[in-house]
Formats: sequence, C-alpha cells, structure tokens
Amino acid sequence: MNEKIWLSSPHMSGKEQGYIQEAFDKNWIAPLGPNVDGFEKELGEYIGIPHVSALSSGTAAIHLALIMIGVKQNDEVLASSFTFSATVNPIVYQGATPILIDSEKDSWNMSPELLEEAIKDRIEKGRIPKAIIVVHLYGMPAKMKPILEIAKKYEIPVIEDAAEALGSEYQDQRCGSLGDYSILSFNGNKIITTSGGGALISRNREAIVESRFLATQARDNAPHYQHSEIGYNYRMSNIVAGIGRGQLEVIDARVKQRRANFDYYLSELGKIDGITFLRQRPGAYSNYWLTTILVNPELTGGITREDIRLALEKENIETRPLWKPMHLQPVFEKYPAYVDGTSEKLFEDGLCLPSGSNLTMEQKERVVNAMLKVLNR
Ligand SMILES: *Cc1c(COP(=O)(O)O)cnc(C)c1O
Repeated sequence: MNEKIWLSSPHMSGKEQGYIQEAFDKNWIAPLGPNVDGFEKELGEYIGIPHVSALSSGTAAIHLALIMIGVKQNDEVLASSFTFSATVNPIVYQGATPILIDSEKDSWNMSPELLEEAIKDRIEKGRIPKAIIVVHLYGMPAKMKPILEIAKKYEIPVIEDAAEALGSEYQDQRCGSLGDYSILSFNGNKIITTSGGGALISRNREAIVESRFLATQARDNAPHYQHSEIGYNYRMSNIVAGIGRGQLEVIDARVKQRRANFDYYLSELGKIDGITFLRQRPGAYSNYWLTTILVNPELTGGITREDIRLALEKENIETRPLWKPMHLQPVFEKYPAYVDGTSEKLFEDGLCLPSGSNLTMEQKERVVNAMLKVLNR
C-alpha cells in the first residue's frame, strides 16, 4: 500500500518545543502565562490589530463575540450557510435563531445580494438581525466591501470568521482584521495549529479586555471568588500558546507552501475539460488553505466528483467533498434560509485536494497522476 497522503496535516516548525520547554522550566502550566501574552502580542502584530484574546477554540471565540454583541434568546443572527458547523453552533448556544445566507459564485462565500434581501425581509417581519457572521471559506476572502457596506447601512455588527483564512488578504488588509469582531482557529488541520485553539480580535480594546474576563469564569476583582455574571472556561493554555508562537514564526512560509500547492495543481490539471478551480479575484489574496475544484460530469465524460474521490481513496489519498451547506444539515434545516442553489451545487460537484504545507513534490505528483488516471488522461 502506498503511504497515506492527508488532506491537511499539522506541520511543525521545530521552534515550538523551545517555547514549551520554557513553560515547563518556569512551571507556567496554566491558562495564562508568558506564552499566552506573547502569542497574543505576536498575533496582533501579524494581523495589524493589537487587541487579541487567545482562547481554547475558534468556536469559543465566536460564542464570546455573540455574547459581547448582546445576542440573546430568540434574537436572529445572519450567517454564511456554506461553512463548517462551528460557525453556526454558537448562535444556537445563545438560544438565538440562525438565518442562513447562500454563497455567490466568485468566492463561494456569503452573497451580498442575498444578505441584503434577508435583512430587508427580516426587518419587514419585525425582526432586526443582531449580528452577521461572514466566513472566508478555504482561505478565500469573502466580498467584504459590499457586505460591510450593507452591515453599516442597517447598523448590524459583523463577526468575521477567519478560521481558515490566516494569511489571506482582502484589499491589502489581513483577514482577521475586517470585522467588528474577528475570529481565528488553530485546530489541527488549519494553516497553523496549536493542536486546538482560537483567538478573538477586535479594534475595540475594552471588548477584548471583557472577553478575557468572560473567558476566565467572569471573576470579579476580589480576594475571594466573587461572580456577578456567568463566565466561561475558554482561555488558551500557556503550553498550547507555546506551540502557537513556534508556528507563527513560520506563517509566511506556510502561506507560500499552500499557495504553491494550488499553483502546481492548477498548472497540471487546470486545462482539463470539466475541472475548474476556485481562484482568487482582483482584490483578494488567498492563503489557499485548501485547493478546491469543481467537477462537471457533462464535460469530463461522465466522471463525477465521487468517482474521483473514491479512485483517490483507493490509492490512499485523502480528498473531501466541499462543506455540506448548513441549510441542508438535519440540525439546522428548520431555520430560515435565503438560498438560490449556489452552495448546494458546490456541495454536489466540489472536492478539496490534499493541501498540507508539508506535502512533498512526489506526493503532489501522486495526486495529479491519480487524477489523470481516473479522468482517462
Ligand atoms: C475550524 C473552523 C471553525 C472553528 O474552529 P475550532 O477552533 O475548531 O473551534 C469555525 N469556522 C470555520 C469556518 C472553521 O473552519
């Protein structure tokens, strides 16, 4: 059996263990400490906003952002439907209602037109949405300019889910700096990882101070344990933050490696009839966290996305269908959705190719050869 090729596996730099050793040497084995402070500072410098709260996950970051915006029971929150469930779950943690918005075809992210249509319709129904969660899926920046203009027009705060988009840019601004609140994830498969972790970022300094308070069980300032609010245990540990600091040292290289994967696949497969790549448009700079393609069986001689996925699986190569939209998920299908079929079609025809920054040229050649074989090229 051929060695397994993973979709996106962790890629350590070798610099992580120094930070972890330091934490052990000083016995900083806690959800605070110098690595947490250092990681927040270094991440802030990279993103271009100094107010960062390092947390236990990206999901926790979205949850805290909703809490600080004041999302409560029976409120409505607009969110991209074409995403990972972690974008939408925290809306339901708050007892609020997700309103799901379909994608546009250029970036596969939230359609500004459907967003505005949804806002108008909700307002007509007497329900003013409390927040918008917009995602940059697969590292591809969403159409933020029109989305932010709409948000401003209707005075709705924006949470930017940049979990997959660290290193991507929109009109020369880093993803993770574009929302009223922005979130990042450092889960094991993301472009850099802390094994598990996340961050909340905001231009509003007080909001980040408040998020740290809420994330450490909302302890009031008193010698005993005093609480006037419900708190959460959402802080990042000092050990995990050490991994993050070692990873952040190589983020530029990681973006370069992921983008090189895309360039290679495009050059080898881009001319095949029926295979199209998600590509950045002017104004967008993608980290190409994952390289994604659409397969049109009418042009491939009947070969479908599933045919390709299964053929590669036989060769021990992991690929994955695109995210199944939230409005099609059993747990979310009961919620209102403003859709036009775009993400459904993407889910039907789309495939993520192996995209780790640690892939060797031999591995990428194996992927391409397996693709050419199933496509009869
Ligand atoms: C990974 C991911 C998250 C959640 O991050 P965790 O750190 O795993 O909680 C949220 N949104 C998107 C789009 C993601 O890909």
